[in-house]
Amino acid sequence: MTQQTSFAAFGLHESIIRAITEMGYETPTPIQVQAIPLVLAGSDVMGAAQTGTGKTASFGLPLLERLIPTANTSMSPARHPVRALVLTPTRELADQVHENLEAYAKYTGLRTACVFGGVDIRTQQDTLRRGVEVLVATPGRLLDHVEQRNTVLSQVQIVVLDEADRMLDMGFLPDISKILKLLPAKRQSLMFSATFSPEIKKLAANFLNNPKLVEVARENSTAKTITQKLFEVHDSEKVDALLDLLDDEMCDEAKNILVFVNSKIACRRLARTLTQYGIEADAIHGDKTQDERIKTLEAFKQGKVRVLVATDVAARGLDIADLPVVINYDVPFNAEDYVHRIGRTGRAGMKGLALTLMCPGADEKNVTAIESLIKERFKRVRLDVSSHRRPSRGPRKVYTPPPVTPVSSDPFFDEPYVPSHPEAQTESSQSSQKTPLKDQKKKPRVAALLGGLMRR
Ligand code: AMP
Repeated sequence: MTQQTSFAAFGLHESIIRAITEMGYETPTPIQVQAIPLVLAGSDVMGAAQTGTGKTASFGLPLLERLIPTANTSMSPARHPVRALVLTPTRELADQVHENLEAYAKYTGLRTACVFGGVDIRTQQDTLRRGVEVLVATPGRLLDHVEQRNTVLSQVQIVVLDEADRMLDMGFLPDISKILKLLPAKRQSLMFSATFSPEIKKLAANFLNNPKLVEVARENSTAKTITQKLFEVHDSEKVDALLDLLDDEMCDEAKNILVFVNSKIACRRLARTLTQYGIEADAIHGDKTQDERIKTLEAFKQGKVRVLVATDVAARGLDIADLPVVINYDVPFNAEDYVHRIGRTGRAGMKGLALTLMCPGADEKNVTAIESLIKERFKRVRLDVSSHRRPSRGPRKVYTPPPVTPVSSDPFFDEPYVPSHPEAQTESSQSSQKTPLKDQKKKPRVAALLGGLMRR
């Protein structure tokens, strides 16, 4: 295959070239070089490519190119049936794939939309009912819409399964099968997966028709632009070790750092701990609402949050353009998650750093599984936690009570207490008639206090 050096060489429509030029795309990435001509030619494609390689454009651009002849300005929903369907495992990935497709389609006249669960279905319903040619969806919510007759899938010409391995991991196979039955038998099918397990090969065999295989990296490998380091620490030293790494010059310059943990509880707890140490940190996990996740992600992208602590599911598909460092605070239980986690950095040819904290003994088995998956052996470096500690972290915050502001002087309080007798009380009540309003208000409280003391 000849190496394309420009997008124009693929013969893409001027409206698409205009959009990607505005986005700063100049040279196609390797997966784009391989996949775009195949998809344009109408072939089924199995893409073994991890996120960050430019795979969205590798199917998105030719997909739009093939639909451009159907673009129209009619107001009738019937003229805008779903013609391309992209299924993704998570809301975040759906959102990001859609964001890209929407940008690529900006000048084509094709309508795009995105539907996923966890948010109000009604707004999505209105969009679908108006008609949309390119639909990005998570499987469950798409089926809800089909059941509610908000959309029909009988005119789908191209279907894409994105991050298919994760869809299987998340148990979406039954939903995917249901959706595929709703599509015309004659269609173009594309499937992308970061890893290439036997289950994925089986799904590909059922789902794709005589597929062409495109591969940009060797099986289950991690991007070459990512430097990986592994540090041995005792479980009780992990927080200190993380603080040291964050302070270390390796991470010093990093605007954004993604830290992975294995559970939601650990996720919340670690983000809170980091905040207590004065680090701008937040957590992203499955218990957060979609709105909360979007806000957290936005703050992270803008650099308001420096460290984002995430679980695997929540971080799936996150596309943060400038993510220089990923830290595995916990070694993942599943070796393939390691590939996905560190694939968040070193994207689109940029340099990335992936650091992993490992507890010798407890994590040994999982680390060995990762090594055999990525076909590399880590150099195990013992992290001397205390000697790495820098003073710049500052002391823990100690609670200091607010200073007491003296109340304006009142002789009543300043004079020593002398037990009063009935006359004194009468005198006090008589004089109160001349006391200004401010002091009148104060008196009853004082009287109640003294009254309590005087009660015999
Ligand atoms: P993806 O693998 O599709 O998630 O893409 C990763 C990132 O690379 C996204 O931010 C894309 O916008 C960007 N990207 C994709 N293709 C290109 C390209 N040819 N030139 C520059 N950036 C690209």
